[in-house]
Amino acid sequence: MNDHLQKDLSEIDQLLELVKAQGLDYLQHLDQRPTSSQSAISDHLSISNGGIGAESALALFNERFEKLIVGSSGPRYWGYVTGGTTPAAIMGDWLTSIYDQNPQILAGEGDISGAIEAETIELMLELFGLPPDYIGGFVTGATMSNFTCLAVARQWIGSLAGKDFAKEGITKIIPVLSATPHSSAVKTLALLGMGSQNIIQVKTHEDGTESISINDLKEKISLLEGAPFILLSSGGTVNRVDYDDFTAIKELRKEYDFWWHIDAAFGGFAAVSDQHQHLLQDWESADSITVDCHKWLNVPYESAVFFIKATHKMHQVESFQNSNAPYLGDPLAQFNYLNLLPENSRRLKALPAWFTLMAYGKQGYADIVNGCVDLARYFGQQLEASDQFELLAPIRLNNIVFSLRDQGQDTALFLSRLNQTHQVFMTPTVYLGRQGIRASFVNWRTTRADVDLVMGVMMGVGETF
Ligand SMILES: *Cc1c(COP(=O)(O)O)cnc(C)c1O
Repeated sequence: MNDHLQKDLSEIDQLLELVKAQGLDYLQHLDQRPTSSQSAISDHLSISNGGIGAESALALFNERFEKLIVGSSGPRYWGYVTGGTTPAAIMGDWLTSIYDQNPQILAGEGDISGAIEAETIELMLELFGLPPDYIGGFVTGATMSNFTCLAVARQWIGSLAGKDFAKEGITKIIPVLSATPHSSAVKTLALLGMGSQNIIQVKTHEDGTESISINDLKEKISLLEGAPFILLSSGGTVNRVDYDDFTAIKELRKEYDFWWHIDAAFGGFAAVSDQHQHLLQDWESADSITVDCHKWLNVPYESAVFFIKATHKMHQVESFQNSNAPYLGDPLAQFNYLNLLPENSRRLKALPAWFTLMAYGKQGYADIVNGCVDLARYFGQQLEASDQFELLAPIRLNNIVFSLRDQGQDTALFLSRLNQTHQVFMTPTVYLGRQGIRASFVNWRTTRADVDLVMGVMMGVGETF
């Protein structure tokens, strides 16, 4: 064995203690970490021939990078939709690395990590109040979950015309209807050969929200003259967190043949709260659903789930099977994750989710979701009460879109100065043609004191305008 490896093996106890102490230091000072960094890595590092050993690697990491790591998992990082990590999720994540399993089959020869993943999927379905008739799995993010779901949708469309698109390639344009698709879903259409520009744009709702207009949807469907299609619907749009009318969509299924996909990356978590679950009424009729775990579940990146109705298992296997590798088994005969999702080998991504679900339960997540919505409203009230800011849209759930009240002032410049205080981080948006700022509350750590602190910082930045 290599000398460094030998030494590290004998000192693994101290090495892990070093990492634990460093990790604790980060977590205990997370709210003081800058929320962004202007620094770039300018010098070039080469791999050494002999290596330096793990302890020196840690020292080198600390010298080069540690001070530049931002507090994106902390309480005042409100950009994009960025969750943190619960203590239990960190435990599960550490153990994922230590056990280093590769979840595949559920039972029989092999290991039980596939069964842990399947159990976690059942727990997630219960958390969301969804029926158990979905096959689910863990992928890296909502983008890959959308990809997985739409791949099966693509295969289903082909099957109706007697085609196997996975084998033969796509031979015709597949109609995909959507009003406010997330950019990542559009990207997956590019990856799936369906063409990102082939989306048939449906109007948004007549009431001014970002949800789909059912009237216009019906009109666009009638233009298809009976051809089956994919409906890409929204379970929480990124600006206003608007939901498509799932009850109306469910009704449409009686008349039309379509694959119904819901992108509920973060909005799906409304289902865990008694106060908000009505937003997802009837979503359990969808063929496929995307939910991100590294957002509102507050587990580390990379974690998301897909749920696809088990009645489509055949199309799912056809899409993802390893058909020319006999040693991987008969794809239809056994449940094997490597025939049900894009990756073959994977880490046990389910474990952080399993730990956090067990640790905090349904009520724990209802509290996180309700707490974030309360914070969003609290922040919204402060903005409305000030004479500098105004909300651009009413607050539906956990996201806020606002702007400087004085339209002569440069909101983008304000945001850039605000982010440069490193005390808070928000992202720019454009809403109804106006420059806006977006803040999203999904982190379990955020408190009213954080909102108060940010309001103070915003007033300070505003004064320099
Ligand atoms: C965040 C998000 C995505 C993309 O998720 P990743 O985890 O970044 O891949 C897709 N859809 C919606 C609605 C989202 O909010």
